[in-house]
Amino acid sequence: MNISVVLPWQQNIWQLLLQSRARQTMPHAFIFSGLSGVGKLHFTQAVSAWLLCQQPTDLGACGHCKSCQLWQAESHPDYRFLQATTDEKTGKTSRVIKVDQVRELVGFLNKSAQLNGYRVAVIQPADILNHNAANSLLKTLEEPGAQTAIILLTDQPLALLPTIRSRCQQFTVSVPSTQQAKEWLLPQLKNPAQADLLLRLSENAPLAALALQESAGFQCRAELAQSMVAVVERKASPLQTAQQWQKNLKPEELLPSLQLLLADALLSALGQDSAIKNSDLLPIIRILGQRLSRTRLLELHSDCVESQRLVAANIQANLLLDNFWQRLQ
Ligand SMILES: [Zn+2]
Repeated sequence: MNISVVLPWQQNIWQLLLQSRARQTMPHAFIFSGLSGVGKLHFTQAVSAWLLCQQPTDLGACGHCKSCQLWQAESHPDYRFLQATTDEKTGKTSRVIKVDQVRELVGFLNKSAQLNGYRVAVIQPADILNHNAANSLLKTLEEPGAQTAIILLTDQPLALLPTIRSRCQQFTVSVPSTQQAKEWLLPQLKNPAQADLLLRLSENAPLAALALQESAGFQCRAELAQSMVAVVERKASPLQTAQQWQKNLKPEELLPSLQLLLADALLSALGQDSAIKNSDLLPIIRILGQRLSRTRLLELHSDCVESQRLVAANIQANLLLDNFWQRLQ
């Protein structure tokens, strides 16, 4: 794993951490929260490598010491990264982090560090710790021992148990300004002309914008909007359209794009064309906004939000999507 550099819009939290370490008032338990795609994991990796590093600098881990070498080789004995497990047979990822995983982590934190420095444990995302798992973590969060850092990541800090939250110091990784986001994003884009569009669609979360460029859901928005119009105008069958899109895209790629297109169609119906995020698709979005009632647009939008929640909970998505296309007509 490369040693991450703290991103420009994360400098404020970074300075706070530098000061705490210099004053020896570093917290033992952290919550890093913030919008998805703002770089929480990237920041956590920079902080973890810096805590473990044997010659840390004000810019982060040194990149050369024994600890940094182990970090780069992804074999640091004093670092644990906890996430939901994926079943090898079915390929499905569990929607919770289980108590056994936390018990193993607590065991690791109870042993002394092999390199005589920090021990770092990261839980990503902490809001999927199930109830027992969260409870097993409480005592360790309260008395983690010297030179220990437990870092919890989440997009939804309020979804964590209050007893977890009260034992951690919370830091918000904020969204950068559009200019700051663009300066970081532009040199990395294959098609820099899409920078503004990608940032609008990602609510200025730069890492989400970068990932979006490559995503199938982003690349097929125009086709998807055309399919929606065709179904609304009864020129295509809802069921065939559903089947065609099920072949082309995974539900988790399809649903966010559908949701954004519907939100934009609703804005257009309300006369707010300037607020539309898929601004490159304005003409076709106007048609959707004209053909569907505001009530129906709102209902379909809620369906998309709910379907994404269900898909994230491993519920079969095909029926939900068949139903979506039928309701569109
Ligand atoms: Zn180092």
